[in-house]
Amino acid sequence: MTRRLMAGTGWKMNLRTGEVAGYAARLLEQLHAVDTSAIDVFVLPPYTSLGAAATAFGGTPVAIGGQNMHWEEQGAWTGEISAPMLLDAGCRYVELAHSERLQHFGETYERVRSKVDRALATGLTPIVCLGETAEDRREGRSDAVLASQAATALAGQPAQRVPDVVLAYEPRWAIGSSEAASPDYVAARHTTLRALLSERFGTEVAGRTRILYGGSVTPDNGPALVALDDVDGLFVGRAAWHPDGFARIVAEVAAAAQVKSRRSDR
Ligand code: PEP
Repeated sequence: MTRRLMAGTGWKMNLRTGEVAGYAARLLEQLHAVDTSAIDVFVLPPYTSLGAAATAFGGTPVAIGGQNMHWEEQGAWTGEISAPMLLDAGCRYVELAHSERLQHFGETYERVRSKVDRALATGLTPIVCLGETAEDRREGRSDAVLASQAATALAGQPAQRVPDVVLAYEPRWAIGSSEAASPDYVAARHTTLRALLSERFGTEVAGRTRILYGGSVTPDNGPALVALDDVDGLFVGRAAWHPDGFARIVAEVAAAAQVKSRRSDR
């Protein structure tokens, strides 16, 4: 089973409106030499830069998305952004449950479940982050935490909708850190997640659902991570805030897609 690989970056609270065109021009110039036809590439700008990003990336292989959204469609929710607003702004994706939302803004997976529903109903692809803390890892409960997060975020979804959700395994201790999780560690967590999907939704659904890895990915460690069987792409923070870094990672994911596709043809 070949899943379409993904290369994406969340800009977090970086890149103002006036900086977007330069980033996009530099990225697209370098991507000219890369065959991205077999992968999905995305950037998640801050809300205020979505308009500029929609213009700069319109008609290119780079899609855009939001970094969060509200679970309701509209209403008295001061300071919030709805799924239809993201769609209006040209988004295809929305990131949910990023560790910084969980840690600093009280996000919960129960809320994430409502957001997944709303995103899917609106036609956005939710990218749901999952990941254990350093303490969870020390106490040997990483897999149990991932299982609980995934089960809560996907609760009530009919099996056929699950592949419309992208999961992103982002160990919280590896985000913004000096080192990514090791390939062996990532492989084990992705195997656990795939098995969980299979148990709950069946092997066909599990085989079609994409699970990305994120957490201190760089152009140097990216190839070994995206080469893993159950890793369906890379989700990048700091290393992609400069377009040259992101271009290199996109090229690595595109190369991995070719290798994986040849392997599955055999
Ligand atoms: C992230 O915040 O989702 C992330 C992966 O960041 P970084 O690559 O900087 O660790």
